[in-house]
Amino acid sequence: MIELNPHYAELKDSYLFRRIAAKTEAYCAAHPGTRLLRMGIGDVSLPLAPAVIRSLHEAVDDQAQIATFHGYLPECGAPFFRRAVADHYRGRGIALSDDEVFVSSGASDELGDILDLFSPSSAALIMEPAYPAYVDASVIAGRRIVRLPSGEESGFLPSPSDSIDADLVYLCSPNNPTGAVFSRDLLQKWVDWANRRGAIILFDAAYEVFIEDHELPRSIFEIDGARTSAIEICSLSKTAGFTGTRLGYTVIPLELERGGQRLHAMWTRNRTTKTNGVSYILQKGGAAVFTEEGQRQIRENIAVYKQNAKTLMKALDRVGVWYTGGKNAPYLWMKCPDGMNSWDFFDRLLHEIQVVGTPGEGFGQCGEGYFRFSTFGSPEDTEEAARRLVKLLGEG
Ligand code: PLP
Repeated sequence: MIELNPHYAELKDSYLFRRIAAKTEAYCAAHPGTRLLRMGIGDVSLPLAPAVIRSLHEAVDDQAQIATFHGYLPECGAPFFRRAVADHYRGRGIALSDDEVFVSSGASDELGDILDLFSPSSAALIMEPAYPAYVDASVIAGRRIVRLPSGEESGFLPSPSDSIDADLVYLCSPNNPTGAVFSRDLLQKWVDWANRRGAIILFDAAYEVFIEDHELPRSIFEIDGARTSAIEICSLSKTAGFTGTRLGYTVIPLELERGGQRLHAMWTRNRTTKTNGVSYILQKGGAAVFTEEGQRQIRENIAVYKQNAKTLMKALDRVGVWYTGGKNAPYLWMKCPDGMNSWDFFDRLLHEIQVVGTPGEGFGQCGEGYFRFSTFGSPEDTEEAARRLVKLLGEG
């Protein structure tokens, strides 16, 4: 009989957001007509920018005419899309060639697929609390996982040390769930560590657009030595509202190599085998994000989420609980009051004020005792949730 991948049995039985959905559905079934204020899952609520919509429409029309119709595109990305992304980096002072950009259907796909580049014996370092897909994708791929827990004392920003035994490092900044952002100095330490060890950093920059402090790095390629030690995985999901439209990109420097093999050439080989690229229409829509008009419009949406963050931060300041994030990230990470555990606090918010958040335990054991709020909801819901939180927890 065929032997199936044994590692599926090692996955935690219920993915975090499915467990949250099951709990909220059960609550709604028992309390019909309740309006929940959903501050849990990190899904955007505002529509695509008008410039993107216009470009999508134009691309659909292109596909209707023999003169402008496109069949298969280059698997690694349409030249116009790769150029638009690379220009965007170059405009921020980061030297990048167009063909170092690979189009993707989003960061989630890439975070798992990219493991194809590394030996099954490689170990993945996951800094916790972490986005759950890092662990799950590594488990499915049968990788040894090394967990690096972090806490309040370091602002949830762990430092490298020579005792860490890993080959691959998932590094997420701004971090989901904590909202913490690596400083230039700390990121430099990780890059130096990776170059010394011959390790590779998978830098998840899904939330880079939320960084407003200019001294904080938005790309790992702002750091010296990153071109020989890092891959950057990006997404238009949170940047430009593409969660349901699906588009992202991955940057692999040409000089990144290990053991005489270039990762850029390996990924090119991988993509040309495992995908036939991403649709012309989506890449046209995505390219519009990087125009001047597109950038202005996406920033209008980001400003709405940032205002939500301010609303929640003000509420948590009034309540007097410890929290981080919110300023340079669309997440707030708070300490559960009265030493509560995070699923009990989840139940308390759901049952007493009908607010849904995300229990910290879902992001790793060291997330226990903490709770995540997303700022991607509507301003009205966020304001109401903030009012209810202050009422429930009292002024600090
Ligand atoms: N990386 C992080 C840290 C995320 O939080 C998410 C989604 O929430 C993703 C990647 C996935 O993004 P995408 O929608 O591009 O698959």
